[in-house]
Amino acid sequence: MFDTKDIKNNILEIGERLYKDGFARGISGNISFRQNGQIFITATCSCLGEMSEEKIIILDEEGNQILNQVQDDSCTNVKPSSESMMHVEIYKARPEINSIIHAHPPYCTALAVSGETNFPAILAEPVVMFGKSIPVVKYETPSTLELAKSVAKFFEGNDAVLMANHGATVCGHDLKETFYKLETLEFYSRVYLFSGLLGKRSVLPEEKIQELLKFRHREAGV
Ligand SMILES: [Zn+2]
Repeated sequence: MFDTKDIKNNILEIGERLYKDGFARGISGNISFRQNGQIFITATCSCLGEMSEEKIIILDEEGNQILNQVQDDSCTNVKPSSESMMHVEIYKARPEINSIIHAHPPYCTALAVSGETNFPAILAEPVVMFGKSIPVVKYETPSTLELAKSVAKFFEGNDAVLMANHGATVCGHDLKETFYKLETLEFYSRVYLFSGLLGKRSVLPEEKIQELLKFRHREAGV
């Protein structure tokens, strides 16, 4: 159980890391954390590398803002992330997770514009962390309910998704774990792309994938 200040500080810290690592350029990307029916989420029109506590909005589990926020220079009012419905829908689909990060890491985004619908198991760690493959959710206009619903649907069976022609979203039990998942997804994407330069790429054998999935089941309970 965290107090409000701790939650906000943790979100600010993760935001700085996302920005510093180039995972969320400009004013892109959003972070949320859920506790006791409240969703803490970063504000729209905000650079994750230059956030302050006032830029973290508290919503109820339906996405309604439950605390008024102060005025800000860059927005007339500080409003929750334009992707807040996506966070709300993912939390509804996954009652046991408490943290979500959406960002545009360059290698993930490169895979997401490839037109592929699924990326295979080429490394062990992503299989344990995410499952047998990485799905790509079909393109929907950013910030719409259509995007929120279709991304949430994929989260019923995955902890990480690529979003076609857009970016990536991951979920976890806490903010740090969720950030590590995004780092792992970006590393996977980078290796996938570099291996393509060599003209060939080997996928893990099915029986080895099944061994890793058993480990995933034991460790992560999924
Ligand atoms: Zn986005």
